[in-house]
Amino acid sequence: FFAKETPNFNLLKKDSETIRLCFNENPFGTSPKALEAMQESLSSASMYDFKFADVLCEKLAESNQVKKENLLVSAGSSFLLELVTKYVSINKGHFIIPDPSFTIFEPIAEFLGMSKSVISLNNKKKIDLEKMKSAVKKDTKLIYICNPNNPTGDLLSRQEVENFIRSIPDDIIILVDEAYIEFTTQKSLSDLVDVYKNLIITRTFSKLYGFAGARLGYVIGNERLIAELKKLQSWSGAEISVVTMAGAIAAMEDKEFITKVLVNNQKVKDFVMSGFNKRGIKTIPSSANFVYFSLENYNGDYFKKLKDAKILGGKTYEQKGKWTRISLGTVDQMNKYFEVVL
Ligand code: PLP
Repeated sequence: FFAKETPNFNLLKKDSETIRLCFNENPFGTSPKALEAMQESLSSASMYDFKFADVLCEKLAESNQVKKENLLVSAGSSFLLELVTKYVSINKGHFIIPDPSFTIFEPIAEFLGMSKSVISLNNKKKIDLEKMKSAVKKDTKLIYICNPNNPTGDLLSRQEVENFIRSIPDDIIILVDEAYIEFTTQKSLSDLVDVYKNLIITRTFSKLYGFAGARLGYVIGNERLIAELKKLQSWSGAEISVVTMAGAIAAMEDKEFITKVLVNNQKVKDFVMSGFNKRGIKTIPSSANFVYFSLENYNGDYFKKLKDAKILGGKTYEQKGKWTRISLGTVDQMNKYFEVVL
């Protein structure tokens, strides 16, 4: 029953040969300032915290131009996508999602008795807002938009999303997942939650800040809607560890790390895009930390090559065109990737 060996808690060290290009993680790890704050906070690990959460929410509110009451924090944004799903499904109904996209909440919605419309991307591989609008029914409760979209990296402009929100009845929740918005120069829609009371935005610390393992996400919405969501989160926000909160507060101030990540992400993206283009591989312009491309013109077994080289590299999406996604690593990792697979 008990493990024979002491578990190795340093997962990356244990598996140092594997290159992880499938989870859109931060290849530079976590901000050093955040790590320092996390170490310091370990001595508080035995205590329930009521102070950090307040400081964190204040900081998040300020950076998003909203009030604390417009925010709900949690251990990762996936949990909040699920929370919104549970909320909208109270009286069952219908939901609309683009395909492919980051629809982890889809099985929960169906399990809770909701029906769905799955809307394919348009021929430019953009989320098809027109078709999503046409799919609205009397009992539609939720429309999900991932912006930039995962797995394509495509970005809808603020204007496009705002026009869409305006065209939808205001009793339908529009959930905009902005997990990758920091990789763009486009402003979050967070400042619009009091204008459109059915707009909910999710954000995460997993990507830019490198907190995928530490777990922190938040949702921004109209005050009334947030108060309703809190009814489904019994001890609001208490699932986030003191250690993560201390790290997040420090991470937000570590401008040096943020700049390093963004500059390198763009550099690596340019390198990867030009590598694919030179080899005649079709890509979609990416506004995130990954690239979507087609294996249609690829000779050989791409996934076997990845496996043999111990590179974790995803799966295929869509029925036609063998589209797949690769996360952007460091320059060295992407050099190795190109050496191995192309
Ligand atoms: N939203 C999108 C679009 C994602 O790609 C991911 C993770 O890859 C998440 C949400 C989940 O992030 P978190 O780590 O905050 O749960």
